[in-house]
Amino acid sequence: MAADITKKDRSASMDYIFEPAPQSFIPIKGSDQKFPVRRIYCVGRNYADHAREMGHDPDRDPPFFFQKNPNNILLGNSDFPYPDKTSDVHHEIELVVALKQGGKDISLSDAKSCIFGYAVGIDMTRRDLQGEMKKLGRPWEIGKAFEHSAPCTDLVPVETSGFIEKGEIWLDVNGERKQSGDVNQMIWNIEETISYLSGLFELAAGDIIMTGTPAGVGPVIKGDEMRGYFEGVGSITCKVV
Ligand code: MN
Repeated sequence: MAADITKKDRSASMDYIFEPAPQSFIPIKGSDQKFPVRRIYCVGRNYADHAREMGHDPDRDPPFFFQKNPNNILLGNSDFPYPDKTSDVHHEIELVVALKQGGKDISLSDAKSCIFGYAVGIDMTRRDLQGEMKKLGRPWEIGKAFEHSAPCTDLVPVETSGFIEKGEIWLDVNGERKQSGDVNQMIWNIEETISYLSGLFELAAGDIIMTGTPAGVGPVIKGDEMRGYFEGVGSITCKVV
């Protein structure tokens, strides 16, 4: 008992050697409250037509995942700075699901109860670097998890949006429609994704999931304006600078 108290006291009296990084967050639409982001999971090739355009068979292989860093989020329709070390940055418009609770091995029937709300995000991708890593069988981080690589709208709570099973999603570049689909075309729907993911990782409140992109991904250059939309959640505007 005495040893425990000593341990606790020591921890309480210890200081960080420098100021911890600020907590990443997403504002909640119509509220002064913020959603603190713990992890960002992304689903790969979750729409058949996008799997095809990337040269893969859209069969129902198990879903696969990669991560971005919580501080890669770009909020409030901010400008997207064209990143270094690439000449082929692509847009991927995605429905974002935010979790208010998590766990391990979440059943399909419990998955819905984990959902806090939804946002629209763009999974910005250094496609040339991702392609090199794919070829070499190396991790995707340099293609996916770079600074400002996750532009995102405010979150709409599920009490407002209802549980989302369908809805039009699209992205325009300079007013021209590049991507369009319906989230009911996902190969793995939201509940299946949460359930499967929770078998691989212990999910928790604050985790967000970028649920994959429909076909039509493509490059942007400095000066382009991306505008993304998801029915029921809203739109995102993001200029490449
Ligand atoms: Mn994506």
